[in-house]
Amino acid sequence: MTTIKTVAIIGAGQMGAGIAQTVATGGYDVKLYDAAGDRVPQAMGAIAASLSRQIARGLTTQADADAALARIAAVGSLADAAEADLVIEAAVEDETVKKSILADLVPLLGADTLLASNTSSISITRLASATDRPERFIGLHFMKPAPVMKLVEIVRGIATSAETYEAAVAFAESLGKTTTNSEDFPAFIVNRILVPMINEAIYTLYEGVGNVASIDKALKLGANHPMGPLELADFMGLDVVLAIMNVLYDGLADSKYRPCPLLVKYVEAGWLGRKSGRGFYDYSGETPAPTR
Ligand code: NAD
Repeated sequence: MTTIKTVAIIGAGQMGAGIAQTVATGGYDVKLYDAAGDRVPQAMGAIAASLSRQIARGLTTQADADAALARIAAVGSLADAAEADLVIEAAVEDETVKKSILADLVPLLGADTLLASNTSSISITRLASATDRPERFIGLHFMKPAPVMKLVEIVRGIATSAETYEAAVAFAESLGKTTTNSEDFPAFIVNRILVPMINEAIYTLYEGVGNVASIDKALKLGANHPMGPLELADFMGLDVVLAIMNVLYDGLADSKYRPCPLLVKYVEAGWLGRKSGRGFYDYSGETPAPTR
C-alpha cells in the first residue's frame, strides 16, 4: 500500500483551498496547483485568514497554524504537482476539463501514486477510465467548507481496488473526518438528495410561491436547516449547482432533474453566488441582501 506523505491538489478554488488547509493541518506536505496564475496566491491568503479565525476561536494555536501553512507549497506546473503520493483533482465541475487534466497528469505520475477526484457528481468510473490506473482512482468528496465539515463521501469506481478504498478511508480518517461510502451513480448520495432540493427551492422562487427571504426562513425555521436552500446555493456556487443538476438530468434521464430556468439564467449572467458577489443575495454591502 502507498504510504501517503505528500498530497498534490489540482485546482485552488473554493474547494482546493479548503482541502489544502485540511490536509496540511493533518500533517501532510501539500502541493497546490491551479491553471489560473492568480488562484494559488489567493488560496494561500484565504487559508491564512481561515487559520487566523481558528486561532481566534481557540481551535488551533499560532504554532500549529504556522506549521500547517509552511507545509503548503505553491507549485507552478503539473509536473511539480505530479511528484506526490496522492493527487486530488479539485478543478471546475466539468468532465471535459477534468479528463484533460488527467490526460496531462498521467504521464507525469509515479507508478504507485494514488489519484482522487473531489467531483460533486461526475462518474468516478468514467474519470478513472481516462487514466492508466483505474484501480488506483477514487472519489474523495470533501464537503464545503472542507476544514469544518465532518464528512468525506468516498466513491468507488467499478474498477477501484479494495486497497485503494482502504487507503482512502484511512487518509480521510487521519484528517479527523468521518467517511461514508457511496456507489458510483450520478451525484452520489449527498448531492443526489441535496441539490434537487435546492433546485426545487429555486423553482419555488421562479413560480412566485415565496421570495428569497421567505424561502430561506421557511426551511431554516420550519425544517431546522442551518442555512436556507438559496443561501446554500450561493455558498456552493450556482455554476456548481447547475453542473450537478445537469449531471443528474443527463445521467438519470428523468425530467424531475430538469434544472430550473432561473438557475440557468443566473449562471449565464455570471451571478454565481458568494464567489462572484451576487446570486440570490447581493454581497456588496455589510450583510447579504436578498435580490428578489
Ligand atoms: P471554483 O470555481 O471555486 O474553483 C475551480 C478552480 O479550478 C479554479 O480556481 C480554476 O482556475 C481551476 N481550474 C480550471 N481549469 C483548470 C485546469 N485545467 N487545471 C487546474 N485548475 C483548473 O470551484 P469549487 O467550488 O472549488 O469546485 C471544485 C470542485 O470541487 C468541483 O469538482 C466541485 O464539484 C467540487 N465540490 C464543490 C463543492 C462546493 O460546494 N462548491 C463542494 C464539494 C465539492
